[in-house]
Amino acid sequence: MLGSLEEGSRSIRCIAFMGDPGGGASRRSSFSAVSCALAATERLGVDAYVLMRNVEVDFAEAERLYRRARDQGVVFLKYRDQPVMSSEADGRVRLELEDVLLGERVALVCDLVVLPDGVGALSDRPNHGRPYQELAALLDAGVDPQGFLQEDNVHLYPVSSRRSGVYFCGDCRGDLDIGRIRADAANAALSAYGLLSRPSVCTVAEAKRETCAACLTCVRACPHGAIHIVNGDSEEVYAAVDALACQDCGVCAAVCPAESMQSRSASDEQLLAQIECLDMGRLVAFCCVESACQAADRAGRMGFHYPEPLRIIPIPCAGRLDPLHIMKALERGAAGVMVFGCQEGACRHLEGNLRAKARVAYARGLAEEAGVSGERIRMVNLSAEMARSFVKAVQTMWESLPEGGAT
Ligand code: SF4
Ligand code: SF4
Repeated sequence: MLGSLEEGSRSIRCIAFMGDPGGGASRRSSFSAVSCALAATERLGVDAYVLMRNVEVDFAEAERLYRRARDQGVVFLKYRDQPVMSSEADGRVRLELEDVLLGERVALVCDLVVLPDGVGALSDRPNHGRPYQELAALLDAGVDPQGFLQEDNVHLYPVSSRRSGVYFCGDCRGDLDIGRIRADAANAALSAYGLLSRPSVCTVAEAKRETCAACLTCVRACPHGAIHIVNGDSEEVYAAVDALACQDCGVCAAVCPAESMQSRSASDEQLLAQIECLDMGRLVAFCCVESACQAADRAGRMGFHYPEPLRIIPIPCAGRLDPLHIMKALERGAAGVMVFGCQEGACRHLEGNLRAKARVAYARGLAEEAGVSGERIRMVNLSAEMARSFVKAVQTMWESLPEGGAT
């Protein structure tokens, strides 16, 4: 852009850089406007102006650049209302604006006005020009409350998405400074390398063709977009799991009405076998491996004690649990059943903990109908770090049970 000092037959003496003409200032557009204005001044010796509502230079690299630009004579004009742009008879551009710092109307005639990329469409766009909803729908990914592609989930930060192999970097996931954009790119490259160098994929869900009714329930429920319906030979239609996309949460296995979908790491057979082994009077805790299992481990390492009758059954996600598992545990004589999931809004599999919450409520209803107190079933949300909370929840539950603990 700055390689020539000529615009047609006219020499370039003055350039205006506008960083946020559509109204949506960003750190990247500010950085770009300031660095281009500085280069124009230093390398080409022209008069350079930066026109912005707000120059977003709140990170070290940009702050240094901004100060250097000012020292080199770049003039910054801050406006509130869109500058009025018109053409002069000699082809130059006239910009008029109310400078909010000077409190005066300023007129500037320049040879070039430089706008940020894609600015033509910016003013029509919601969310400061970040129309990511459409792309999110195409990718089967979500957006955050501001409309950026990165979902509000601690397990996905900084660049991961709910889809394996889809990473979000830079502007699409927030108003980031240039250092963080570079870090994003490196992070995404490393994550992709890690995914591609996985030696083999063995723990994924699997649907039985013979019993699948192609009802789409699992397709809709899968938080990672890993299931699709395929047409097999002889007109059979069934659900198939994409092994690279599957994150083995088991949510699909819990929702399948035909028991056709199974989780290989936590199949019904495996879970029921663990329940069958229970002695009478135990307190059973179905623990999500992403949170409560780690909290329990941490509690052990920290020397915290919890009631001896506790039996932990690990599950890949609280959303894997079926009310059947809870009822079976009670049938086997469990004094109480606890379901531990991640904190709301922080489930690695997005809504697995909310699904579990609904199933726990359902199981409590079933228990009441069968004459068993629903208080014997409880859902607890915590994170992997909450070892003390884990112990306290178990202790409280145990002491509240008529058959166990304190009574
Ligand atoms: S286990 Fe989870 S990620 Fe894999 S197909 Fe089932 S719902 Fe999708
Ligand atoms: S939920 Fe079960 S029956 Fe329905 S499509 Fe999925 S695997 Fe097939």
